[in-house]
Amino acid sequence: MTEQNPLLDFSGLPRFDAIKAEHVTPAIDTLLAQSRTVVSQLEAPQEQVSWDNFVAPLEQATELLGRAWGIVSHLNNVVDTPELRATYNENQPKVTEFWTALGQNEVLFAKYKALRASAEFATLSPARQRIIDNAVRDFRMGGAELPAEQKERYAAIQEQHAAVSTRFSENVLDATNDFKLLVADEADLAGVPADVKAAARAAAEKEGKAGYEFSLHFPSYFPLLQFADKRELREAIYRANATKASDQAEGFSKKEDWDNTANIVTLLKLRDEEAKLLGYRNFAEVSLVPKMAQSPEQVISFLEDLAQRARPYAQQDLDELKQFAREELGLDELKAWDIPYASEKLQERRYAFSAQEVKQYFPEPKVVDGLFRLIQRLFNVEIKTDSAPVWHPDVRFFRIERAGKLIGQFYLDLYARAGKSGGAWMDDARGRRASGDKVQTPVAYLTCNFTEPAVVDGVAQPSLFTHDEVITLFHEFGHGLHHMLTVVDELGVSGISGVEWDAVELPSQFMENFCWEWDVLEHMTAHASTGEPLPRALYDKMLAAKNFQSGLQTLRQVEFSLLDMHLHYDYDANGSQSVQAVIDGVRQQFALIIPPAFNRFQNSFGHIFAGGYAAGYYSYKWAEVLSADVYAAFEEAQAISPAATAETGKRYLEEILSVGGSRPALESFTAFRGREPSIDALLRHSGMAA
Ligand SMILES: [Zn+2]
Repeated sequence: MTEQNPLLDFSGLPRFDAIKAEHVTPAIDTLLAQSRTVVSQLEAPQEQVSWDNFVAPLEQATELLGRAWGIVSHLNNVVDTPELRATYNENQPKVTEFWTALGQNEVLFAKYKALRASAEFATLSPARQRIIDNAVRDFRMGGAELPAEQKERYAAIQEQHAAVSTRFSENVLDATNDFKLLVADEADLAGVPADVKAAARAAAEKEGKAGYEFSLHFPSYFPLLQFADKRELREAIYRANATKASDQAEGFSKKEDWDNTANIVTLLKLRDEEAKLLGYRNFAEVSLVPKMAQSPEQVISFLEDLAQRARPYAQQDLDELKQFAREELGLDELKAWDIPYASEKLQERRYAFSAQEVKQYFPEPKVVDGLFRLIQRLFNVEIKTDSAPVWHPDVRFFRIERAGKLIGQFYLDLYARAGKSGGAWMDDARGRRASGDKVQTPVAYLTCNFTEPAVVDGVAQPSLFTHDEVITLFHEFGHGLHHMLTVVDELGVSGISGVEWDAVELPSQFMENFCWEWDVLEHMTAHASTGEPLPRALYDKMLAAKNFQSGLQTLRQVEFSLLDMHLHYDYDANGSQSVQAVIDGVRQQFALIIPPAFNRFQNSFGHIFAGGYAAGYYSYKWAEVLSADVYAAFEEAQAISPAATAETGKRYLEEILSVGGSRPALESFTAFRGREPSIDALLRHSGMAA
């Protein structure tokens, strides 16, 4: 029976042509049972714990479970069917439970520590040493080392934290779904685009109402804020959005029940208690343990420095906006609800071109070919069409070779369709591992949600990409290259495995830069009807618009990052100071735009209260510094010669892309750049250089 289950066939690529929902439960049960058997065998006392008799068999057993479950999750994301979803939901708790139990297994933890302390450790490769160090760290941070009573408290904290955090996001969701702004008269919607009005009309109709209904979902409320000429309307929707799930909320059917104010304090208290149990001074320190940044102090001074540098540019952005609003829009005092509106008008005035116009120059075959040629040139590889079973006829499969040797393969699934999750992402189907002559090459899934080709008179026209979509494609390919061009032999730290959270966006953001390079764009554009490449004049306008208000945007990201850090660093959740006071303090010191007193943005700041970004929101800017600085090395080389560029590509490949998580990201960066990261390139790319 098991021989016939295609999910249990690991001899080659996943058998997407044969795998069905009915295969999932028997395969996952088999693999869970096999993994449990290996775990219990490894729990038995061993005379001498070694890599070969402990880590290798554990990794072997769990890899197959991870791969099979990866296939199921992938299918659930790209070809969701009721059968698949049902079996996914049925199996997910079992799989989660297995990994959770493994992460808290004290016998295995003791063996990792014994191996760490053994004479063998010094003889292991750096990659293996790092895997062991990471394992010991993760067990420790999971509370495995605490005395029994504290361990119990640790578990209780986790449980309560999960519950409150879920409640936080439910409150935001419920409040978002609840609020409705009904506009009776179309004349009040002057300025609002037709498609936005049509959606609002349909929303009202659905509830049997006359007029136009707006909600707090982004595609509904933001265009209103951005386009509605009527100021009262902008104010009403701004106020609702800025006060949802808070004590200031008005116009919602519930208030106290959805107020997240107390939940925020509870979460901060629990995090602080967890940090102290684990022996740290605050939760920011806990958050940074597995990250590239060394200390909360380092992160805070990075952010404060960035704030200081961005401030003059932000001031200039704001002055311009105020002047424009006063002179052209008759808004003498720029209120919070005027900012998106005035910004939109200023942007339209200054850069007269449409995304629609740009799109005509980016037909899919030209873009994909341009991307592949760039990769081939930069990293001395060849990308060739390959074949493999796929989950949908639109999916294509490719292989990457160097000097005729297979390096990695990838699936490319570009178009949006029913049953496919939104957004774009890279995921690994298989990671690289090697022992002796036996090499398991990496395989990646690259998934996007672009518009599918239109069929005109029975002929499929190439899909046209917006420039944003091109950037997304390059971004995901950056992650894909990180995964596929690795040369690390150990699964646990090959490709993107084991890479620090605040450094993992380096290779992806790095690739985005090429979407703004004239030499690259010139060769990957062809007008849908004339075949002409992108005109230089249009390119110049795109480039000028790229950094519109980047000073204000940077300052806003820094403000969010700083208040996240301070709430987890020097705020005493058990003291008398309010969360609002901390936020006000950060704003007074660093922000130029002070929101109105009723603003309770933090009450729906899901990233840090219901996501994984607590004391980690800074990661966005942190990784951007790295990627900009890496890209600057290419700019410097390009100014010298093609040979210098090729050499830089080789060095980037060898020192950053191919080493994955086998050494600290800072070491990799320094090996590539010959120095520590500098913020200069990011400032220059954002138009904020002196
Ligand atoms: Zn990314």
